[in-house]
Amino acid sequence: MAQALLKAPARPAIHQTKLLIDGRWVDAAEGGKFETYDPATGDVIAEVAAGTAADVDKAVTAARRALETGPWATMDAADRGNLMFALADLVEKNAEELAALESLNCGKIITDSIGDLGGVVNTLRYYAGWADKIEGKTVPVRGNFLSYTLRQPVGVVGQIIPWNFPLLMLAWKFGPALACGNTIVLKPAEQTPLTALRIGELAQEAGIPNGVINIINGFGETAGAAMVTHPGIDKIAFTGHVDTAKIIQKAAADTLKRTTFELGGKSPNVIFADANLDDAVAGAFHAIYFHGGQCCTAGSRLFVEKKIHGEFVERLAAKAKERKVGNQLDTATEQGPQVSQEQLDKILHYCELGQKQGAKLVTGGKREGDKGYFVAPTIFDNVKDDMAIAKDEIFGPVVSVLPFDSMNEVITRANNTTYGLAAAIWTKDIDKAHTYAKNVKAGTVWVNCYHVVDATTPFGGFKMSGQGRENGEAALEHYTETKTVTVKLN
Ligand code: ADP
Repeated sequence: MAQALLKAPARPAIHQTKLLIDGRWVDAAEGGKFETYDPATGDVIAEVAAGTAADVDKAVTAARRALETGPWATMDAADRGNLMFALADLVEKNAEELAALESLNCGKIITDSIGDLGGVVNTLRYYAGWADKIEGKTVPVRGNFLSYTLRQPVGVVGQIIPWNFPLLMLAWKFGPALACGNTIVLKPAEQTPLTALRIGELAQEAGIPNGVINIINGFGETAGAAMVTHPGIDKIAFTGHVDTAKIIQKAAADTLKRTTFELGGKSPNVIFADANLDDAVAGAFHAIYFHGGQCCTAGSRLFVEKKIHGEFVERLAAKAKERKVGNQLDTATEQGPQVSQEQLDKILHYCELGQKQGAKLVTGGKREGDKGYFVAPTIFDNVKDDMAIAKDEIFGPVVSVLPFDSMNEVITRANNTTYGLAAAIWTKDIDKAHTYAKNVKAGTVWVNCYHVVDATTPFGGFKMSGQGRENGEAALEHYTETKTVTVKLN
């Protein structure tokens, strides 16, 4: 896979701004367009077709035809896998260009975009390998019958993704859907429409038949909502905000769509005094500041054992003050801009609220520069569990430090949240590590590491952090229907 770039990439070309419906690039039916920005400057970089219900309807018709009568419907599973391998190869070949476009549009630093592209290729290849291994069972049924199960595609799947990992979230959605033989209507986030469109072009180049992948850019309340209520869509896979998931679940009820959700978090990252403190400081730093805190798994509640609390916060603050915040396409930059003005305003609001509610601002808490959406890495100390900054998902580079004394106490406090996406513990004591891992309510638990996510391992949330799992074999469950066939034997 592509290695870290040694010099800043050339400004990427923008190949495509239309909608992909049935293998054709088209303007939006109602002719609408919307602007998309470089978050480092706030400057417009492209105008993109704004899909609405009429476009969703056309995309669903195309996806239904591809599902039922196109070459995709009758293709050998192994050949379906080969098309996915071909797409993965093309993504790999174009990784640097895709990474630069991803960074330009979402503000992610270029080295992280390169890392994401590695994840995209791995995910597509992992699921390509699954395509001809999705098997049913023979069942030892009572009586003189032969019973067996078939695993068949759910059908036309609507996939709605967010702006923080535009390409990786696309790969997590496309991988299992295509491996299981479904067809797709994808809606990228309105903040980051560009890279998905380039993937649409590469999917065509790979030979994926028309109508299998349709891409409708547009806004959540129009294009997204139209997907959720469309009777021709069998399932919605959504990654985004918990409040949006509530709207989607209600709206999907009328057509009883299958839904899977990957939502937010307020993940507890617990540091015991017996940890390797060099690793734990670096790990806690990475846990919150990776991608400017714009990760659903961000380690935003940092529980530090009281014995080491003072020293730990000092070391973390020293690193935060040194962090190089700047243009995302500069290879020396460690933290790029937040994605939008809206996110910038939200983060600064929480920085004010933290101080008003009595937390101690150790560093940061303010915007950097007066152009673009940059926020200084921020640490609040002596945070109380009931403060807004300890409860709400901020989605920015803001960590709440919460001192603690004992394992029982920290497990109770870690679980005192409506979320349950990820959790971590730093300790050399195997007993502490497994006690915490067993008792913390989270879909992913990291021991002496953070943000380690792989295509092979299930990912998703307990409680209000989600429903269902992405990645690994687990995701295949959500993209297949199981059919029982029973044959009378004479
Ligand atoms: P965020 O706060 O991270 O922007 P959202 O949940 O608003 O999270 O957005 C995630 C995705 O959900 C985006 O693609 C957005 O357009 C889409 N979306 C927003 N509102 C709706 C809705 N009512 N129905 C369907 N999709 C929506």
